[in-house]
Amino acid sequence: MSLRLRLTLLYTTLLGGVLLLFGVVVYLLVSVTLETQIDNLLETTYQEVAPAIRASADGTISILTFPVGELTSSVFVQLWGIDGERKASSPNIAGFPESIDPAGLRVTMPVFRNASIDGNGLRVLNVPLELNGRQIGVLQVGASRALIDAAQSNLLTVLVVTALVAMTLAAMGAWLATGQALNRLETVTQVATQITHADDLSRRIPESGPASDEVSQLIRAFNQTLSRLEKLFTAQRRFLADVSHELRTPLTVIKGEVGLMRKLGGAEDESLSSIENEVDRLTRLVGDLLLLAQAESGKIPLDLRPVELDTILLEVFQQMRVLAGDRLQLRITEIDQVQVNGDRDRLKQVMVNLLGNAIKYTPPGGQVAINLCKTGDQARLAVSDTGPGIPAQDLPHIFERFYRAEKSRTRTRDGSGYGLGLSIAYWIVHHHAGRIEVDSKEGQGTTFSVYLPLLPENQHQSIA
Ligand code: ADP
Repeated sequence: MSLRLRLTLLYTTLLGGVLLLFGVVVYLLVSVTLETQIDNLLETTYQEVAPAIRASADGTISILTFPVGELTSSVFVQLWGIDGERKASSPNIAGFPESIDPAGLRVTMPVFRNASIDGNGLRVLNVPLELNGRQIGVLQVGASRALIDAAQSNLLTVLVVTALVAMTLAAMGAWLATGQALNRLETVTQVATQITHADDLSRRIPESGPASDEVSQLIRAFNQTLSRLEKLFTAQRRFLADVSHELRTPLTVIKGEVGLMRKLGGAEDESLSSIENEVDRLTRLVGDLLLLAQAESGKIPLDLRPVELDTILLEVFQQMRVLAGDRLQLRITEIDQVQVNGDRDRLKQVMVNLLGNAIKYTPPGGQVAINLCKTGDQARLAVSDTGPGIPAQDLPHIFERFYRAEKSRTRTRDGSGYGLGLSIAYWIVHHHAGRIEVDSKEGQGTTFSVYLPLLPENQHQSIA
């Protein structure tokens, strides 16, 4: 259930609860007040009628006269003997032979009761009459409840209708108000997601709405975080670029000096080769770092032109076959003629990195398969191996720079990398409007797939 719906339901239910409580209190208060009023009227009438009641020694009772005062047309009086016979009744009910509250004739103490005659409600005060400790009859004083019943039913209607209208209005209001607040949050989420996807920390979420409300505060806090992150990233990139740049010169000098020492003699050949190997490795690392720094700042120098991926792939394949030697079976399972708009050297670097990893991580006797084909308007290059696979917990991180899976970190194989190969591949593919995916199962193998947009004319060819 959405937050908006939850909040709306909460507000409406709360309001409904409060209105119900309020309604019950008002209803009871009005009912009790009206009933007390009518009971007082009955009580007063009884007080007026009582002195006029006469009883003879044999228990016969009667009413001398009915007082005119409170006895209005809506108050009825009946006097019943213990034998169940009507002894007297007020003129306004003289024609009604039955008791106005038959059940009330059996009372042994004064009781107010609700009764009904032909569906009309009556409030009746039943008072037992005694002579010498013996009950000789019952006096019934009744009045119509019509006023109370009408008031109660009208009040109930008003309360229910008002509550329903108020709850509907509250639900609509809550829905609109939360919608407005949440819409702005949704915008924040959208922009934040776009920023993450586009890796563009220079963007900011536009501020809208009242400056002091919580959402505006959230937007400001988020924008401040972005500014800080942007500064940090820029400083880090600059540092990376500067250091890589600065390291290049001494490495070139060392390499030159080693060459010179080799020519002049006097130094051990093995030590010189070892120094040369390390210098080459460092030079590659520095080159990779520089490229990454450029890629991450969006300044990767790309020489884009139509290139044939299949031709590049065959070149890399020849080169890599030498690297794989007899250790592995390296084969191309399918190769289409595929043209994309790209930088030849950089795309070659992607293939070298992916194939290099496949060869490096697959144990002897394993297989590495390459597949280049067209799918829709995309070229797909897949490199699959039967190597150890990549643990699930490492998969989300392998395109991060310097990330190496746990197993690879503990490997001591010579020539192992620094965890930059896949980051570089990712950035190159990304800058070619493509994407790179990995599918890996531990113990079974890994497949890296690179998707690049085909050149339009190449797409036509494939359809024809
Ligand atoms: P490295 O220089 O360590 O190879 P990469 O960026 O090329 O750096 O790869 C990152 C990590 O991804 C590697 O350390 C390794 O753990 C894992 N990896 C990459 N390719 C494969 C593969 N084909 N099989 C198994 N693990 C791989």
